[in-house]
Amino acid sequence: MTDGESDASVGTAADAESDGHSSFPPCPHCDSRVVTVTTRGPMTHVAGPCGCRLTPHEARQL
Ligand SMILES: [Zn+2]
Repeated sequence: MTDGESDASVGTAADAESDGHSSFPPCPHCDSRVVTVTTRGPMTHVAGPCGCRLTPHEARQL
């Protein structure tokens, strides 16, 4: 029974992801989609278009 349920939820998630915009990850600070990450130094990364500063660890996860 559990298999049927998990199959259904996986199908729903795949449909949502193939919908388009979800290829851009959410900004960890403001939840806007991060389209670009600008690197201005070894410790300075800026998400775009929202402009939030990211730590190197955050930038790596996007
Ligand atoms: Zn942001």
